[in-house]
Parts: sequence; structure tokens; C-alpha cells
Amino acid sequence: MNLVSFSIKTKGVANFARRLRTVFTRFGFSERRTRRALLIAIQTLQSHGSAPTYFIPAVVLNRHPKLIAEIASRGAEIGIHGYVHNDYRTLSAEQQYAQTGKAIEIFKQRQIDFAGFRNPYLGWNEASLDVFRRLGFCYETNEAVLHEVVNLQHFSPMIQSGFAKSLALFQAIPCTSYTLRPHMEGTLVRIPTSIPDDEMTFDRLRITNPQEVGRIWSEVMQRVYEREGIYTLNYHPERGILCNQALEQLLAFASSQPLPVWLTRLGEVARWWQERLAFRFHFTPLDAGRWTVQANCTEQATILGRYLDIEEHSLHPWSGPDQRIEAREFIVRAPCLPCLALSPRTPVEVEDFLHEQGYPVAAGVEEQAHADYACYFDLPDGLGTNREEQRNLRSELLQKIEALEAPLLRFGYWPSGQRAALAISGDIDSVTIQDFFLRIIEVR
Ligand SMILES: [Zn+2]
Repeated sequence: MNLVSFSIKTKGVANFARRLRTVFTRFGFSERRTRRALLIAIQTLQSHGSAPTYFIPAVVLNRHPKLIAEIASRGAEIGIHGYVHNDYRTLSAEQQYAQTGKAIEIFKQRQIDFAGFRNPYLGWNEASLDVFRRLGFCYETNEAVLHEVVNLQHFSPMIQSGFAKSLALFQAIPCTSYTLRPHMEGTLVRIPTSIPDDEMTFDRLRITNPQEVGRIWSEVMQRVYEREGIYTLNYHPERGILCNQALEQLLAFASSQPLPVWLTRLGEVARWWQERLAFRFHFTPLDAGRWTVQANCTEQATILGRYLDIEEHSLHPWSGPDQRIEAREFIVRAPCLPCLALSPRTPVEVEDFLHEQGYPVAAGVEEQAHADYACYFDLPDGLGTNREEQRNLRSELLQKIEALEAPLLRFGYWPSGQRAALAISGDIDSVTIQDFFLRIIEVR
């Protein structure tokens, strides 16, 4: 399917005609307009001590290597957005592998470092993940978490149906504490992207008032902050100038939260997630209700404890019952071991999952010992067989643990006491009007 029929199918004829009109207002025949939009976003983030992450199809990089090298030299991270701007779900595993390999070749020739992949239309399938792992990507960022922050009742049925088409296209998943955080699948870090994105907000819902867009983005940030997740905002540089005021509003909102939000690039998020994966607590019993705790972790780790006391070190207020512990070795006093326990028949995937979430876990604990731990789980069937079941069971399990009123230690999700993460990302699908129309030919 080519871009025209694809766009008409997902956007409808009227929307596609609108899109064509906006192409001529948002792009130019030279790089000038896009360059300006990219530099404005870079400047805005630089004033907050950070930088954006951009994804670009290899053929577009190949036509604009100087521009991309320039924004990379100003701190932007560059990731791969396909060889051409096509939907991987329409390709076989071999075709996905071949096209991704070709994209890597171009990035190497152009000497642009990359660590991550985002699919056009966030269009991934199981074969894509396998391809990314085989080709050594560190992360991908295709899982689209939907935040219900716009009241759709206020829109016409036509707009509502266009919005629903976007959700189907993006394979949107519900927003929970679990889905809002990265997770490992084999060697690949999967970093969620939050929607609605700029295309849905501006073009589908036709919300173009920057203040209203800023309000929507801030509300997403609020939800992400509460759930200790990451907000990966995706917006296209073609709307960069329109979006800049909204971006400023979002950044001001994020930095006004009681606890700091980590404003960063996706590559850093992936590296942090891999680093954090190896963090572990070790307990040595002293006498009744006292343990020496050794936290094997790096300097940046955030150690949190609730419903317990620490000897000779102070606890710093953090959020809710959680208090922050600066020490890496300390003596804890609590009515039970501040650790989760799993029954002998609970499969190892549950233990791995809880470790990834930052919890200390004792596996193979007999049921009669359950009172010695913060919480005891007997989950012989594990955490589900298909993706939907896994997502639901993992979300439910985390919700249960997070609501526990029992002594428990954990590693926070983000470094240096930060409560949530915010990564501003964008897809450079086209730089010029020529690129926009070349897509139609390229995806054939
Ligand atoms: Zn794209």
C-alpha cells in the first residue's frame, strides 16, 4: 500500500486533503523551515539542561546528512525510523531484517551514532523485536500508551472515528504503572511512548491552541509522575514551532513537581535501565527484627524504604510512605524482612519481573514462613501467556505490591531520587516538500 492509499485509509479523504494543504505550510523546498524548527526545540531543551531524541528514515538522512550531523553535534540523539517510511507490519521478517540492515549501513556511512529504533506508525510486531535484537539495537520505543486526557464526547463523530483509527494504527495499550515504565525483552529495552501525539492532537482532534496542547501534555505528565513512569512525548518537527509554547508549558509543569523529573534522551533511559537491572539487596540477619542490608548498586541508584527504621542513618521524606535512604550499607529494623517472598512452585519469570521492578525477592519460600516477609505470593501459573494477559497480570501484581502497608525496600525506577522521566522525541519523516512526496515512491 502506498502513502496516499494508506493515508486515505487511516485518515479519510477530507483529512488527507487537509494534510496536503498543511504540507505546503509546514515544509519548504529547502531545509530552512525544518532546520529552524529543530533548532528551536534543541534550544528550548538546552535551556533546561537536556536535548531531544529524533528518529529519521535512513533515506531522509541520506539526503540531509549535514543537517542531521549539525543537530547531533548540538546534543540531539538520532535513532533509526526505518530505511524508508513504511509500516513494518506489512513486511515479512526477512524484509524487516534486510531493510533495517540497509538503514544501519547508511547511518554508518554518514557516521551518525544510533542506539534505538522507532517504527513509522509505531508499527511493530514480534518479528520486529527479533530483528532489533539480532541487529544489536539497545532499545526500541514503539509501545503506545494511551492517556485518556481529552474528552472525546466534545468532538464530532467524524473526528471521533478518526481518533479511533489512530488508536488502532498505533496498537494503543492502556495506561498503568507497569505499561508506563520501560521493560526488558531479552537484550532489548522497550521504552513506552505516550499518546495522543502531536498528529492526533493537531490534525485528528484539530486542537491547535498551544495552551490547550500544553494542558494536555501537562496532564499526561501528571499521570506519569504519579505512576513513576516515563513520558516519551512524540512530536514531529514540522509542528515544532506550533508546539514550542506547549513544550515550554510542559517543561515548566515538569520542573514544578515536588520531586525532580529526569529530563533526558531515550538512549540515556535505555542505558540506565540496563544498569539498574543488576541492582540487588542482600540481607544478613542480626537478631530478631534486625538485618544488615547491603545494596549492590551504582552511585545513581535511588533506594527507598517504607514502614521501617534505619539505624545510624537518616531517612529523607520522598513520597507517600516511601522514604529515601542515601546509605548503601545499613541496619534495618522492622517487624518482618522488608522483602517479597515467592512459593517454591512460582516460576522464575515472576522473580525476574520483580527484580526488574526493583524489589528484593526471596524465592522458594515455604508457605508456613509467609509471615516473615512483607508479602508472600504463590503464582504457579506465572504471569500470563499472551501479551495482553501478561500486561494485565503484571499491572495487577504491581498495583498490589505498591498498595502494601508492610515494611519493604526497593530500588526506585529513576536515578538520583528522581520520581519520573520525560523524554522529548520527534520523528523527522521529511525535511522538505520533496521528501514528503518522495515517500510515496519510496514505500512502493
Ligand atoms: Zn514517522
